[in-house]
Amino acid sequence: MIHSSHAALVEEVAKAPDEPRKTLSDGTQIFPGHREIDPRNGQQLGYVVLAEEERAKGFVRPVRHSYRHLKCGGVTTMGQTLAETYARDPYFYSGTFCCHCRAHFPVGEDGGFVWAGTNEKVGT
Ligand SMILES: [Zn+2]
Repeated sequence: MIHSSHAALVEEVAKAPDEPRKTLSDGTQIFPGHREIDPRNGQQLGYVVLAEEERAKGFVRPVRHSYRHLKCGGVTTMGQTLAETYARDPYFYSGTFCCHCRAHFPVGEDGGFVWAGTNEKVGT
């Protein structure tokens, strides 16, 4: 018997066969509902990253762990697999979390985050 969440994931993969493999930030399988917000901290239940073998192909940016939210000035630090995913593909994420605002906001050229200690926008 095929578990329903597994069937959904297979369907997602089948739609984009050339997409690099992805996991959650702790290396576990992506589950439906991982984007749901945990009311305790405002974060998603899970964050998608590029799989280990994709990150191992090389970085196009430095691996940076902390970024500053321009609106509040707060610095957020993320884990290694997320930092490496940004370094492998700077355009992977459309938004990111501010632990001071406890909310997600867009990244990119028009986004509200810079890498800590720089003026370089996150997601560029
Ligand atoms: Zn903020």
